[in-house]
Amino acid sequence: MNRRIRTIFWLMTLCIVGVYGFQGYWLWTTYQLNRRQFSQSVQDALAQVMQRQQVAEADRLLSGELSMNTSSEGGQTQVFVRRFNAEEGRIRVFVDERAKKAEIPGKATVKAPADTLARRISGLLLNHWAGGAVFDLSKLRTAYALELKNRGINAPFRLDTLQIRPQKTAENIVIFDTRTTNPNAEGVQTIPMPINPRRYLFAQASFGSPALYLIQRMGWTLGSSLLLLLLTTGCFLLMLNTILRQKKLSEVKNDFINNMTHELKTPIATVAAAVDALQHFGALNDPQKTQTYLTISRNNLQRLADLVEKVLNLAVEEKRELVIHPEPLDLAQLVNDLVTNHQVQAQKSVQFTVAIPATTTVSVDRVHFSNALNNLIDNAINYSGEQVSVRLGYQARPNGWQFTVADTGIGIPTTYQTAIFDRFFRVPTGNLHPVKGFGLGLAYVRQVVERHGGQVAVRSEPGKGSEFILTF
Ligand code: ADP
Repeated sequence: MNRRIRTIFWLMTLCIVGVYGFQGYWLWTTYQLNRRQFSQSVQDALAQVMQRQQVAEADRLLSGELSMNTSSEGGQTQVFVRRFNAEEGRIRVFVDERAKKAEIPGKATVKAPADTLARRISGLLLNHWAGGAVFDLSKLRTAYALELKNRGINAPFRLDTLQIRPQKTAENIVIFDTRTTNPNAEGVQTIPMPINPRRYLFAQASFGSPALYLIQRMGWTLGSSLLLLLLTTGCFLLMLNTILRQKKLSEVKNDFINNMTHELKTPIATVAAAVDALQHFGALNDPQKTQTYLTISRNNLQRLADLVEKVLNLAVEEKRELVIHPEPLDLAQLVNDLVTNHQVQAQKSVQFTVAIPATTTVSVDRVHFSNALNNLIDNAINYSGEQVSVRLGYQARPNGWQFTVADTGIGIPTTYQTAIFDRFFRVPTGNLHPVKGFGLGLAYVRQVVERHGGQVAVRSEPGKGSEFILTF
């Protein structure tokens, strides 16, 4: 059993760790993917905004220049430049087929006016850049923020301009090294985009660590993953708890059966011996002896009947709630009767002290309350040495009353003090069982007290004694 439970435990632990690992890995890759998407998105947004601005710039410059391009009569030059179309983000140049062989007045014949126009636009832009072109960063910032918003990104960013000096390679190619070293490894930076290449001016957007932003975006996935993990762990713990409890219960039940068998065997053997004596050893002829054997038999049968009753009660009470019928009772009277019974039966020296005011009346169920007190007094006498003092006390409380049963017996170790009220629980004594019992007495006491709306507690010190406190 133990080995099986241990195997189950380790297998389950392995499963849980595996699930955690996989879930963690999956979340990490999703996070990385989102992060890459984020970088790409902010980069694209910057590129698009810059392109749009340049196109708008070119458009503005051209509108001043375009007088020459308007159509002249006679089907000669037919070049139309449509204004910047925001959606397409580029200049559309319509070139009339006829314009290919047309002439621009005062200029040489142009073969491909579109090319010329493109070159012209570039020229204009370059001149504009080389000249005193003023760049409006705040405008770009606004446009960029808007573009990001359109893409569903609302992370805060910083937009900077920077200068990157070109490097010339041997082949006379100009290279702008836009690899920037990321100052904060956690953050995201776009590749610098040229604002004014003639003046080596670039724009770059930087974002703080996108972790929080991404975690927010992954909220749903993250939340359900965590919930799943918690649920799995919870199930695991619940299962483990149940298994362990079942195991304990089965052990306790085994103990109970062993005890019970032992307890039942003794009276049966005694009665058998008494009957045997009457039958075979001529005891029947001696009325004195007959009387003795019959008394022994009756006592043992009574003991058997009590045991059976206890087990039956137990079986009944487990299914059905205990029903009580409280009635006003003279507590001192009730306790004194119990004490007298015990004094008669006791097989050791017991000194009783009863501290209950003479006229104390309490409202309790006569049978169950007496049984409960009986169990407590029984225990006080049984779990003690050769001599014992038992003190029964009553105290009135602001909202009720308290009853205590204190003894000078063997006491109960602290670790077992809550368990003793469980069914079948007995403080372990190794293989020795000096006191016979089933571990049901205190469970019954607790049930009775609770049905009366009270609570039971124990204060005990091993070797010194115990005190059971019933509070109503
Ligand atoms: P049982 O007496 O049949 O074993 P109980 O439920 O009455 O069952 O008691 C449970 C256990 O608590 C006992 O086995 C005993 O170890 C311990 N116990 C109960 N009362 C006392 C006491 N007064 N002093 C010391 N130990 C006690």
